[in-house]
Order: sequence, then C-alpha cells, then structure tokens
Amino acid sequence: MNKALLIVDVQNDFCEGGSLEVKNSSNIIPVINKLIDKFKQRSYPVIATKDWHPSNHRSFASVSGGKIGELGVLNGIPQIWWPDHCIQGTPGAELHPDLKPVDTIIHKGSDPEVDSYSGFFSASGQPTNLEDLLKKQEIDTLYIVGLATDYCVKFTVLDALSLGYKVFVVKDGCQGVNLNSEDSELALSKMKKKGAVILPSTKLEI
Ligand SMILES: [Zn+2]
Repeated sequence: MNKALLIVDVQNDFCEGGSLEVKNSSNIIPVINKLIDKFKQRSYPVIATKDWHPSNHRSFASVSGGKIGELGVLNGIPQIWWPDHCIQGTPGAELHPDLKPVDTIIHKGSDPEVDSYSGFFSASGQPTNLEDLLKKQEIDTLYIVGLATDYCVKFTVLDALSLGYKVFVVKDGCQGVNLNSEDSELALSKMKKKGAVILPSTKLEI
C-alpha cells in the first residue's frame, strides 16, 4: 500500500483573517503539521492543493454580479457566489505560513469560467495534475485534511473514492464553512456513506 497525505486548500484566504475565512481554521494547522512530520518520516509524499483563481474568476460575486453566499448558475452548473479569494500570486493564495513545507502543489480553479472545489476535477470535469501525479507514484491510499470540510475537502474525497482510492479523512485536520450549521456533519456522513473512513488524528496509524 502506497500512501500520501493530501492537504486541501490551507491558504491564507481560507484561514482566519482571509477574505473567505473559515472559522477556527487555525486549529487544524498543528494537527496537519504532525501528519506532515509522520508522512515525511516514512518517505510518503505530502501533496497540497491550492485554489488558484485569476482575478476575473466567475465564481466571484464581484465578477458575476451575484450576491455573496447565494446560489446561482455558472455556464449551466450551480454555483455559489464567493467573495474574491485565492487570486493567483497574491498573499491570500499562499499556503498558511505556519504550515510545514509540502512536496508538491496542485493548482485548481485557474479557468475563469468554471469553479473547481475538487483537487481532481473542475466542476465541468477537466482534470488537474493530481491523478497523474498519484499514478506516477503508485499511490492507492489517501489521507485527506484541509479546508473546507463542506466544499473542497468533500468534493476531493468523493472524487478520490470514485477513482478507486482508499480514503481516510482526518476529522480534526479539517474545518468547515457551515453556511448552514449542519453542513460539515452532512458532508462527513456523505463521504462515509461513499466509503471514506472518518477518524481523528489520534486514531491514525500509518
Ligand atoms: Zn475558489
């Protein structure tokens, strides 16, 4: 079994003080850092995704004219309008400064016409480089953490499962947006139903 740690979107704009901050996101950083150490000690790859939008990205309420947090339609696909976030080359798009270094960064969301919550595919099904990278390293088991439980973590986990990976979601290494208060719990139960193992970092054996 070849394992990898996949850290989803732990970027300044999604952390406290960022333009699309996830409350209590700083709690997950020490948890993820411990995992980074563990994986590196065993020479398992540590991969991070980055939301990486051009400034004219149409998921932005400011670009599409929608209201922040409301649901609209972007090129035929349901789309929540977000505040500007993770604009390529800005400090908001950088990984949180307290996060330990990772081996590889996978960018997503670069096409202004389509959003990409998942680290594997855009909402219209365009692949990122992630699956190629995992195949090259013969990874079959993913340990997934990051932001946010109810969006990018959820969609990354569901795509990983449908691609056939064994997936562990480390619950205290994730934090949700919770536009509705139950969103993270619902997301975790959906991941579990589809085959992910949800567990706390204290129970993790790698
Ligand atoms: Zn985004």
